Amino acid sequence: MSELRDLYQTVILDHYKKPRNYGRPEGADHEAEGVNPLCGDRVRVFARVDGDRLGAVGFEGSGCAISTAAASLMTQVVKGKTRPEIEALYQRYQDMVTGTGGVDPSLGKLEVLAGVREFPARVKCATLVWHALRAALEGRQQPVSTE
Ligand code: ZN
Repeated sequence: MSELRDLYQTVILDHYKKPRNYGRPEGADHEAEGVNPLCGDRVRVFARVDGDRLGAVGFEGSGCAISTAAASLMTQVVKGKTRPEIEALYQRYQDMVTGTGGVDPSLGKLEVLAGVREFPARVKCATLVWHALRAALEGRQQPVSTE
């Protein structure tokens, strides 16, 4: 189990040091900002909707390792998905990091963040970028805050 934990930590640190899909993708037509005052995390999500699917997604911001890795990992799993698919994924992810649900194989790469459930104060770091993505897709103008 500790080996698994080490492995997951390695993946999280890798995404923290080399975030994937960092920056605004070409043609982005949706964006929203999320802030987590408790930790000082700040993230801005950009999305381009092609038909009923997320054609491109990226993010910018600064925050702790968990919030940055969560953003990087999210951009990898939501691309190409429809709004309902993203919403379903968000619910399963939320259940995983809060500990109310198990680790669902459909979460894919997001599984590396399952350890967050043992640190309730970090749940908001792990979900911040998802709140920002949902706000972007809903066209909300106000920054979303976890508080
Ligand atoms: Zn944080």
